[in-house]
Amino acid sequence: MSQNDNNQRLRIESRLAQIGSQEEPVTGAVSFPIYQSTAFRHPKLGQSTGFDYARTKSPTRKVLEEAIAELESGDAGFACSSGMAALQTIFALFKQGDHLIVSLDLYGGTYRLLEKIMTRFGVTATYVDTNDLDALEASVQPGTKGLLIETPSNPLMMITDLAKVCDWAKSKGILSIVDNTLLTPYFQRPIELGADIVIHSATKYLGGHNDVLAGLIVTKGKELSEEMAFLHNSIGAVLGPQDSWLLMRGMKTLALRMERHQENATKIATFLESHPEVEAVYYPALPTHPGHDIQSRQSSGNTGIFSFKMKDARYIEPILRHIKLIAFAESLGGVESLMTYPAVQTHADIPADIRQKVGVDDKLLRYSVGIEHADDLIADLSHAIEQAKQELESGMASVNV
Ligand SMILES: *Cc1c(COP(=O)(O)O)cnc(C)c1O
Repeated sequence: MSQNDNNQRLRIESRLAQIGSQEEPVTGAVSFPIYQSTAFRHPKLGQSTGFDYARTKSPTRKVLEEAIAELESGDAGFACSSGMAALQTIFALFKQGDHLIVSLDLYGGTYRLLEKIMTRFGVTATYVDTNDLDALEASVQPGTKGLLIETPSNPLMMITDLAKVCDWAKSKGILSIVDNTLLTPYFQRPIELGADIVIHSATKYLGGHNDVLAGLIVTKGKELSEEMAFLHNSIGAVLGPQDSWLLMRGMKTLALRMERHQENATKIATFLESHPEVEAVYYPALPTHPGHDIQSRQSSGNTGIFSFKMKDARYIEPILRHIKLIAFAESLGGVESLMTYPAVQTHADIPADIRQKVGVDDKLLRYSVGIEHADDLIADLSHAIEQAKQELESGMASVNV
């Protein structure tokens, strides 16, 4: 019985902690080794060890790929050099004249890839609220082949009912692709809800330590898995052995980290929701969030990232200057707390009018809550807001960051 068969019966915490630990039969190494080799010797003509050339298949990467496929309840996994490389590999499924329906509140880099690169190949996209069936229906074109969903979306944390929408896509012959970066398979498994493909920026929660750039793809179904293997090898944006190992090392503690991220984010979002200088908090764990019920039904927990809007844009610059424990930095999902200003950073490639329409305006901050002590994080944020308020009252603050 292979480890995978055996592991199907174990809970996800056990499967995460054991990634690769029973896969090295020669030495019994508990930490699966880094096979830093691009070439593999053939025993004789017509024979192979299963490995030929590292772009096609590489031992350390293979353990990672099998692990993510199993965790996401898919049939095959593919490790890429970044989340964007994973998305580019997925988009290569489409050809000239094909059309995609995409979540309106979208990761800026995905928008840029679709609008600035994929349009060159004649693949176009329409951006809609993917939880609105009427809007989805209205955006279908004769060439519509794919649906790309982020749930929760980033930075506004909009929730899409995956079972409902994937079912709708299936009825239209549209491939459903879910970016599961924010929840990870620990909290949400889109393939179990009907998705065909899951994509991760594994740079975020899966890696978890702000030290490895990686992307993962999981496919459901034999034909789709074979096509993705062909694209992954042909395009070649694959993950190297060192980074594959680093990612697996991070994934072993995913369960513990996600629990703490969720606990901290809930405490801090609750604190901000009642803060007099805060206009709104966008976090699906809060019962006031419009997607709260769907999120509670389709996921077993909440991400560690949320956004909040200050009452005045002039608060932003001094807050970012005064936070100390929380770093002013892009990215999310690591053990360290990071805060970013989407309008000028992560989402700068989305045109201002679209950003305004969606609600990513100049009063919005996004906070990726780390695993530090919640009280220290609240103290840091509370102090920064107080400083900002004083500067604003004394006429010092400006809107420029
Ligand atoms: C970061 C991110 C990406 C891009 O991934 P990289 O690893 O930075 O290339 C895609 N989707 C989401 C939701 C992300 O947060």
